[in-house]
Amino acid sequence: MQHRYESLFIGGRWRKPVGTGRIEVTSACTEESLGSVPEAAEGDIELAVAAAREAFDDPAGWASWSQARRGEALERFAAALAKRGEEFARLVSGQNGMPISIGRMTEALAGQLLVPLFAGLAESTSAEETRASLVGGSTVVRREPVGVVAAIVPWNFPQSLTFFKLAPALAAGCTVILKPAPETVLDAFLLAEAVEEAELPPGVVNIVPAGREAGAFLVRHPGVDKVAFTGSTDAGRKVAAECGRLLRPVTLELGGKSAAIVLDDADLAGQLPAFFSATLLNNGQTCYLGTRILAPRSQYGTVVDVLTGWASSLQIGDPLDEATQIGPLVSRRQRDRVEGYIAKGLAEGARITTGGGRPADRDRGWFVQPTIFADVDNSATIAREEIFGPVLSVIAYDDVDQAVAIANDSDYGLAGSVWTADRERGLAVARRIRTGSIGVNGYTLDPGSPFGGVKASGLGCELGPEGLAAFQQLKSVYLP
Ligand code: NAD
Repeated sequence: MQHRYESLFIGGRWRKPVGTGRIEVTSACTEESLGSVPEAAEGDIELAVAAAREAFDDPAGWASWSQARRGEALERFAAALAKRGEEFARLVSGQNGMPISIGRMTEALAGQLLVPLFAGLAESTSAEETRASLVGGSTVVRREPVGVVAAIVPWNFPQSLTFFKLAPALAAGCTVILKPAPETVLDAFLLAEAVEEAELPPGVVNIVPAGREAGAFLVRHPGVDKVAFTGSTDAGRKVAAECGRLLRPVTLELGGKSAAIVLDDADLAGQLPAFFSATLLNNGQTCYLGTRILAPRSQYGTVVDVLTGWASSLQIGDPLDEATQIGPLVSRRQRDRVEGYIAKGLAEGARITTGGGRPADRDRGWFVQPTIFADVDNSATIAREEIFGPVLSVIAYDDVDQAVAIANDSDYGLAGSVWTADRERGLAVARRIRTGSIGVNGYTLDPGSPFGGVKASGLGCELGPEGLAAFQQLKSVYLP
């Protein structure tokens, strides 16, 4: 089915774009056109920021509403999103190759679950707290919405990553300009339809599909009060530099090169479904995956054999097929990048035990076989850089101290996992890993707890009450 849009959703209505550019969307699986949308030009972004600014600054507007009144509007929004759940999953799968079974668990549910979650969190956190002043009288500490938010998201989990920002921002009373990635714009138009149906006030949510230059323009726009960014570390550094210059608050969720530490008592063969979610989810196009598998040297051969058998048995196919475990990568560019890393891994002396190429039965779509590299040193390029494809490197360690040291020897610090028969032992290792999150015998994001990265993986966090606080500004009113 072809999707064609002629207008942009700005200021609560569909308006003709200022620019003439268009974004063509193609299927990652068939390489055929899925449709096209207008590309937001700088003039459109000006209008979007002005609309968000006006909505935020209106003394009787969204930011001034009671939590309960915003909660009602957000309830309508969640209902409009829920109606479209399956459509979100299908649109995302078509565009970026995400297996539909994963899309149904993430993209279909993100908005309908996170919007009420954050509305509830905002209602249960009082906006004002009165403290006895330490110098006499009292002080009212207020949590105010931070203002107009520029939310910039990548293509890998476009809806989930949008709602990590949009849900808390709206619950806090902010207004938002959302810039989706050009690879996944169709689901953003579906989101706009839900905003319209829910009758959120004009300007509270504005959507500007465009590329990186437009993103940079939005980041530095004087009408923006806060930037919430998810994407690559390279782009994140640029966004951070700009926000540093402007002293503009910014949250950065960036890349990763996490470790999955297999301890010597782990029953890896019995944990493969959970291991899949922690290492290969979404064709390897997930920021938090443990792509460095750390295996005890005494069991190295067995671990490699288990992973090789498992990776070669995964079902590769059309992402819209229920049974597919590995779909195509998002684009030709991304496939070229992943193949480049595979070549580099071989050139640097690592050994492929399965995969390493394109599946023989697929002559269309950006497919790469799940690939296991053995004999990888942690200093190799494939162990240092984020590949963002279904490629895992198995690295040997001698004892737990060395495993911890290897896990922490990374420019990144996003996530990780520990695999063991003994949860307490796993937790003890997890405590020693310098990352924003980590799982023991699995890795599942908990929307009630903070998610973020350290080192080159980002600044600040999303989700949980902390993710709401990221869209609030503290103010003390002294009452001597
Ligand atoms: P990308 O950085 O190229 O683009 C991400 C978004 O930022 C897109 O919307 C893009 O148009 C925009 N953008 C790019 N340069 C910009 C700039 N200078 N100023 C403003 N906007 C700019 O990343 P990608 O290739 O689309 O996504 C994959 C990356 O995202 C991976 O590195 C992955 O690890 C990361 N990611 C991180 C998380 C997390 O939560 N930590 C989650 C998902 C993806």
